[in-house]
Amino acid sequence: MQTKMNVGNISVIGFDADDTLWDNETLFQDVEARFRELMAPYCSGDDASAELFKTEMRHLHIYGFGVKSFTLSMVETALSLSGGNVPGSITTELLRLGQSLLTAPVMLLGGVEEVLRQLSGRFRLVLATKGDLLDQERKLERSGMVSYFHHIEVMSDKRVDDYKEMLRRLDVRPEAFLMVGNSLKSDILPVLQLGGEAVHIPYHVTWAHEATDGVNPTGRHYHRLDRIGELPGLFS
Ligand SMILES: [Mg+2]
Repeated sequence: MQTKMNVGNISVIGFDADDTLWDNETLFQDVEARFRELMAPYCSGDDASAELFKTEMRHLHIYGFGVKSFTLSMVETALSLSGGNVPGSITTELLRLGQSLLTAPVMLLGGVEEVLRQLSGRFRLVLATKGDLLDQERKLERSGMVSYFHHIEVMSDKRVDDYKEMLRRLDVRPEAFLMVGNSLKSDILPVLQLGGEAVHIPYHVTWAHEATDGVNPTGRHYHRLDRIGELPGLFS
């Protein structure tokens, strides 16, 4: 049984977007699977993935999160793994794979629209996501969910200070804020640290960067659900 929240305290609900409202990580993993195939002349699939991840992490502070940084990292990794000899046809395919992520249809997860419809009448809903600004705006537009949100926040990162700044601008106290998301690292732990409420809804795949091995939040402000459709039940 979930602990019921004190609804009276909550005025704003923040929703993560990727892998909370719509599928995202499986698209990236499909592209990475193709990247591994394309790198087969130079190294094993696992080495290709490891190098790609290293490149992404090395550039995170200048590129930020999202599809375009992932695409640039694939190209750079291909150049480095091939000793600068990767054929133009492969580079072209990597760029095309990146573009396919930017134009992929938005696949809403089950129950999302009903939950947003129910909760938007009772709370201020905020979309709080990382990634490319243009890409996230386009996905939200294509999702058809934009009208349920009072505010869209595309954050450069989701650390405690980033949430603190967002809540300051929204003029909401942490105790009145509930965050819903699939990533313990980005959506849950920083919000709990600030003194907010957090609902973790794990997705079946997680990007390595979001991994938090062995971390198990506890306490009455932490909630865990199997699917988003269970969210309104926390307030009933
Ligand atoms: Mg997410």
